[in-house]
Amino acid sequence: MNVRLFRPDLGERELEAVRGAFDRAWLGLGPKVSEFEEKWSAFVGAPCSVATNSATAGLHLALAVWRFPRGKKVLVPGMTFAATALAPLYEGLEPVFVDCDPETLGLDLGDLERKIDKDCVAVMPVHMGGHPVPMDRLLDLCAPHGLKVVEDCAHTAGGEYKGRKLGTWGDMGVFSFEEKKCMTTGDGGMIALADPGFEEPLKAMRWMGIDKDTWKRNRLYTEAGADVRHWYYEIALLGYKYNMNDLAASIGLVQLERIHELNGARHRALLTYLERLKGLRHARPLFPYVTDGTCPYWIFGLRCDDRDGLMAHLKERGVSTGLHYSPLTAHPLFAPYACPLPNAQRLYGEMITLPLFAGIREEEIAYVCDNVSNWDKAQ
Ligand SMILES: *Cc1c(COP(=O)(O)O)cnc(C)c1O
Repeated sequence: MNVRLFRPDLGERELEAVRGAFDRAWLGLGPKVSEFEEKWSAFVGAPCSVATNSATAGLHLALAVWRFPRGKKVLVPGMTFAATALAPLYEGLEPVFVDCDPETLGLDLGDLERKIDKDCVAVMPVHMGGHPVPMDRLLDLCAPHGLKVVEDCAHTAGGEYKGRKLGTWGDMGVFSFEEKKCMTTGDGGMIALADPGFEEPLKAMRWMGIDKDTWKRNRLYTEAGADVRHWYYEIALLGYKYNMNDLAASIGLVQLERIHELNGARHRALLTYLERLKGLRHARPLFPYVTDGTCPYWIFGLRCDDRDGLMAHLKERGVSTGLHYSPLTAHPLFAPYACPLPNAQRLYGEMITLPLFAGIREEEIAYVCDNVSNWDKAQ
């Protein structure tokens, strides 16, 4: 048997939605993007949202919109996907790497507190694997320093902490719809905003900085010229080609309608894993998994004594595995910002990601678990 690590869950309904976009012959930025933004806001409980072509773009815009002076610092996890730490670099800001909490893999709040100084302007917590960062405590630490908070929610879609959706605790929450994530549009992202005042600049910045609405306000604009001024726009902000398109949004709208089904399936798979892998001697679950269903996890993983041995054992038997993530400071690009990250350094030698996706079958989980158990017994 071969078991994939991730697999998007797409079917006839998504295909029908794509057909709809073809029939309307409107594939670019259009009404489906707006509809997706509105429904996303309702889903997470944010006043408004801005859709982008990736979370990487969304994270960049979420920092860029504040126009921080170059050279200021942004606190980011030392162990995350590169996109989180690229955002400050795009803006000429310095990433300050924070170690991970040894249990939750989220930001270590003690290390965060030690690293906050007068040059820090923002912090970007990542809800690793879908496990929530304790946002109330994080906000308490950040508030006295006026730090802006951008939640990287790439590993969750609908997860909650203390009854409030992740992505709505900070100033902005950025979600990913890349094909491996909890729900997908092929590629795509979404910025949920706490302050609706950022909607207009963000919408301009994701579209070359073009502000279409200025023509309506333009004082030079006269009634006589009304019919021939439809082409008019103004560019006041440095923008990018970061918009989501209607083709992607059409898929996203269906995936969002199915999100409870998708998250529910992942949750059942998680419970099966936890049950079947109870009592291993040489491995234990990667996260202190919350099992009440409020945290749809993106990663099921283990931490174990001989990670490479388990990885090789599973690979030989057709089970795909992964590692999320090695410390970013090991990459040449981030080496200039390196600092000791003892927890991340130790954990990355122990972690292994096992297959988890909405469509994973019972037999597949059983096969993975039997092979993990066999390896465990042979140690
Ligand atoms: C996947 C991921 C991103 C980037 O998402 P894209 O939509 O592929 O740009 C950002 N942060 C984290 C933690 C991720 O896992």
